[in-house]
Amino acid sequence: MTVVLCTWGDAIEGGTEEALTLANKFSSAVGSDLNWLVIGGAGDAAGDIAAHYGVKHLDRISDTKLDSFGPDAMVEALAQYCEQHKPGTILFNQTISARLIAPRLAGRLGIPVVMNGFDLSPNSNSLNVTASAFGGDTHCVYELTGEANIVSVVTTSIVAEHAASASSPETREINVNLELVDERFKVTEQPSAEGPRLEDADIIVSGGRGLGSAENYGLIRELAAQLGGLPGASRVIVDEGWVDSSHQVGLTGKITRPGLYLAAGISGASQHMAGCSAAKTIVAINKDQDASIYRYARYGIVGDCLEILPELIKAAKA
Ligand SMILES: Cc1cc2nc3c(=O)[nH]c(=O)nc-3n(C[C@H](O)[C@H](O)[C@H](O)COP(=O)(O)OP(=O)(O)OC[C@H]3O[C@@H](n4cnc5c(N)ncnc54)[C@H](O)[C@@H]3O)c2cc1C
Repeated sequence: MTVVLCTWGDAIEGGTEEALTLANKFSSAVGSDLNWLVIGGAGDAAGDIAAHYGVKHLDRISDTKLDSFGPDAMVEALAQYCEQHKPGTILFNQTISARLIAPRLAGRLGIPVVMNGFDLSPNSNSLNVTASAFGGDTHCVYELTGEANIVSVVTTSIVAEHAASASSPETREINVNLELVDERFKVTEQPSAEGPRLEDADIIVSGGRGLGSAENYGLIRELAAQLGGLPGASRVIVDEGWVDSSHQVGLTGKITRPGLYLAAGISGASQHMAGCSAAKTIVAINKDQDASIYRYARYGIVGDCLEILPELIKAAKA
């Protein structure tokens, strides 16, 4: 039974190569073909990447109804693809939009879905999926016995690894008919999609409740700008309205993998770390020397971030 990774958009999303790594290892373990379904403009860039991850078919869908992301059209396109090609394991790289699509597709096809997966292994006639549960506090292993299953993969703990040899996939243009789709979801307001994305940033300076107020988030913005990075945030300060949700890092926010992640006044809850633990270097500023963030940080500054951030800004300017 084929394994397929489904992605979409005009660019290859962060985490795609990590999801392909998992998909390639799993499909090799079960002796199945690995296909990669790419919806939208990212298909042009996908060929070179696919060659390194054992992808047999690079399947492409282009339809103007899919240009402005709409869940109904997307689910319809994916459902028609699944009906035509009958994949046994349908994987998603768990981006924010994949979180909307995977459960809807499972409902549409009447098959199981596991969200927050990070490991897959065959188990006689079933599929075992290890996934984070209870907001990332624990791991569960789910045994899926259906003929087809959906797994949405969080890629932060996966390291991208090329297959032993590269081979070009066969590209197939897949036809779907979306004429009857009457999109029920209309985006009426959305943050600007322009400018650099947190998911792609190499340097992120993030702030949490320890900043004390919305005004102090200005220190995070300033340090990020001085270092040529982007400002991030914990969910608490997004919920408090100190900063908008496009900055949120974590399980229910952006999944990032920067070279440097500087966390100021952030406790290091597992749900936050789910969005940044893949950073190469984490630097924490927290006045509590027992804060969980220090379990992940390579460097730590124990102290008041309202004193330390201005010093770092001065140093960065110098
Ligand atoms: C299902 C679910 C999903 C979630 N998803 C996310 C998510 O995507 N992202 C996310 O961030 N959270 C998420 N959360 C919330 C998460 O559990 C935490 O509540 C949140 O991350 C805590 O934010 P914080 O670290 O800013 O605040 P706190 O936990 O309150 O920590 C504040 C830290 O600042 C330190 N501090 C205080 N004053 C100072 C100072 N002056 N200088 C230095 N340090 C100071 C304190 O010692 C403390 O460690 C989720 C929770 C659930 C249940």
